[in-house]
Parts: sequence; structure tokens; C-alpha cells
Amino acid sequence: MSSATNNHTAHSHDSLKTLEYSTIQQCIHCGFCLPTCPTWDETRQERNSPRGRIALMRAIADGRMNATKEFADEMYFCLGCLACKTACPSGVDYPQLFETARATAEQSGALKSTRRDLIRGLLLRGLFTRPRLLRAIGRALYLFQVTGLQDLFRRLRLSRFLPAKLRQLEPQSPAIQPKFSHQLIRPVERPADNQVKYRVGVLTGCVQDFIFSDINRDTVDALLANGCEVHTPPLQTCCGSLSSHNGEPELARELARRNLDSFDLAKLDAIITNAAGCGSHLKSYGVLLADDPVYGERAAEWSRKCKDVHEFLVEIGFRAPKAAPVGLQLDKLTYHEACHLCHGQKITIQPRKILKSIPGLKLTELTESTWCCGSAGIYNIVQPEMSQKLITRKLKHIDTTEATVVVTANPGCHLQLFNGAKLQKRTFQVRHPISLLAAAYRAEGS
Ligand code: SF4
Ligand code: SF4
Repeated sequence: MSSATNNHTAHSHDSLKTLEYSTIQQCIHCGFCLPTCPTWDETRQERNSPRGRIALMRAIADGRMNATKEFADEMYFCLGCLACKTACPSGVDYPQLFETARATAEQSGALKSTRRDLIRGLLLRGLFTRPRLLRAIGRALYLFQVTGLQDLFRRLRLSRFLPAKLRQLEPQSPAIQPKFSHQLIRPVERPADNQVKYRVGVLTGCVQDFIFSDINRDTVDALLANGCEVHTPPLQTCCGSLSSHNGEPELARELARRNLDSFDLAKLDAIITNAAGCGSHLKSYGVLLADDPVYGERAAEWSRKCKDVHEFLVEIGFRAPKAAPVGLQLDKLTYHEACHLCHGQKITIQPRKILKSIPGLKLTELTESTWCCGSAGIYNIVQPEMSQKLITRKLKHIDTTEATVVVTANPGCHLQLFNGAKLQKRTFQVRHPISLLAAAYRAEGS
């Protein structure tokens, strides 16, 4: 059945007023989370802390306060990094509170403006729900970059005609890959020796599909090298995390249903993601669609089978590569932990295990490796000042490791580190752990 034909109603956890009250009551105001919260650490204001934000949410749930513009601004000042979730001894479900609070902020209309509505409509509904259109735009951007038009645009300083925020961001626009995931990965690939131990699906993402399609290829290669038959549907849709984190839970559910329709779940042992932010959200499909009479059961199965690639490889006892990657100097390497991998999914040991298995690689631990780099979805676009403070802090710690390679497993962090290094004149490369593993496997044959 096409998901678009279903008639779905709003869910109980779409608003703070209808959210299960015990979720808000869980906070015991102990304050353990405060020192781990990057926004509190920068401002030392209670309202910019997890405890302060939860107090605001509770005031709205109790009807003591309306969802004002100040409330909405505060919810969008939160990074959604989930460091507070890790720190909390009371098990506060901050991800659910955060997403419900942003949905409440949107429903209140407190931030409404014609310009904002237009941008949100174009991006969230117009673009991220249409993978073909997104790819066409990616292709156009690629041509813009490789035909010299981008250089001309910059030489003529045409960016001065762009809105202020876009003007600031233009120099950081990522390089588009010459080939997208469906051009690099066949819909079904089998291990070279034809010995299939597992059948897995691979998620190629939306933006990841054309900015980091090479990482998707590396992911498939690493899985093939470990006896997986890999199923990669050529046209996939956004996982919906962008919608969910920006107060559009119904749109997030719609995208989740489409993803469920893209994979033959019953035939697969696991659904693999290599992007921390997507993975954290993809694993929540079971909760997101719990009330859905058509998709609920499948969504629960999806959540059970959805695995981060590092998590899956360690679970199946991945094969340690026998050779060092060719042409890469890996003796000065450090690891930045994406928030949605370490805090969102509690995956910290597995990427390190994979990295340490690579011959010639020396991992130097990074101080505050779990501290947000300031990427946080589109936070770097909407809150550039705080985002810059956080990347500067991150770069200082990277400096002390003298790393020439920084690894991270999330496209947002990857770009944030890459752009931060470029702007602040650092020379390290940024890589995904799985790209290094795949390069090591390839080196075995060389
Ligand atoms: S998600 Fe991050 S920024 Fe937001 S309250 Fe928690 S620790 Fe602070
Ligand atoms: S650590 Fe948990 S219980 Fe304590 S104040 Fe923070 S959110 Fe509330």
C-alpha cells in the first residue's frame, strides 16, 4: 500500500501538552548534565542548560507558560547533541523531549514568517522528500563546480547578491562527487568468493549520496570483505532526521514509511547506516511509527535490524585487514566522536576497534572527543556564532594531538571539521573509519 494514501493522525508525543507526563517528570534537577552541555558551558545561563530547557518544557506541559518566541529560540539554541542524555543518572529521554519541544515550537507559530515558512517548505517538503530532484540539484551543483562557473562566481564576487547567511556559507559549500551512490554501487553485490554469510541492506542517505558517495562505496566494500551480500536500492529517500529535529514529526513519519517500503526487510539480516545522525534517527522508526496500524510492526523490526556499520562489523567479528592502506600516512590519527554515535547510539568502542585493527595506524585519543563540533544538523547554518566557537574549541584539541588525519563517522561532522580546518588554516585530512578499513582491505590485493 502506498504510504501517501494512508490517513494518519497526529501522535500523542507530537506536543508537550499531550506527551506522556512521566517523560518530563523524570528530571530530578540534579544538574549532573550541566557541565556536559556545550551551550551551558559557553553561556553559564540556566536556560541554556538541559535542566533549564526541561523546566521550560514542563511549564508548557503544565499550562503555566505559552510556547513563545523566546521558548522556540531556546529550543533551537540547543544543539540536540544529546550529551545530557549520556550524563543523566535519571535516564531522562532528552531526544524525545527535544523533538517534541521543537514540534511544539513549530505548532505555536511563534517563529512564523513568510520567509522562514518559504525556506522550510522548499527544503523540508520540496527537496528532502524528492530524491530525484535532490539528485538533479546535486548534478547541477557538480557541473557548476567543475566547469569553472563557481570560480567565476567567486572572482566576480557575485555572492554579494546572496542573503547574508548564504553569503557566509558559500565558501564552505562542499565539493560534489562526480558519481553518486547508484553509479558506484550495484543494487545487489555479492562477496568475491560467493560465500554469503549475511544479507544486509545499505542506506545511502540524501546529502551523503552525492557529497560522500565514496564513503558509501567503501562501506559496501567493507561489508563484502566480511561475507555480506549487499542490497542497495538505487533510489532512496532522506531518513527524516532533518524533519524530526526541526519540528515536523508527521513529515518524518512519512519519510520513514517510504524507507520501510524500499527494503525487503524479511530477507535481510541487518540494515546498515554509516552516518551517525541518520543512524540515531533510523533506529527510532519503531517508536516513531508505534501507533501506525500498517507500518508499526515493520518499523519495530526495522529498529531491531538497523545497525551502525561499526556496530555490525564488530558484532559479526569482522576480519582484521592484513595490509596497511596504500598512500595514507596513518601514524598520527585522532578520532572525533559524532554526538549521535556516542551519545545517541552509545557506540564508542566499535569504531576504535576497527581503527586499531588497521596495520600501521596509530590512534591518539582526542581530549573532549565526545564534545559537539558545532555541526549538529543545520545548526552551523542557523547558529553560526555558537557553531564557530565549538569548532574552534575542537581544533585546539586536535592541534595538541598533532594529527594529520582526523576520523569521524558523520557527514555533518566531516564537513564541519573540513571547513573548520580550511578556515582556520589546519592541514589535516578528514576521513571516515570505514574508508580506512576498506582501503586496507583493498591494499591486501595490491
Ligand atoms: S542536547 Fe546538547 S546542547 Fe541540548 S541540552 Fe543536551 S547537552 Fe545541551
Ligand atoms: S542530569 Fe538528568 S535529572 Fe539531572 S538535571 Fe540533568 S536532565 Fe535533569
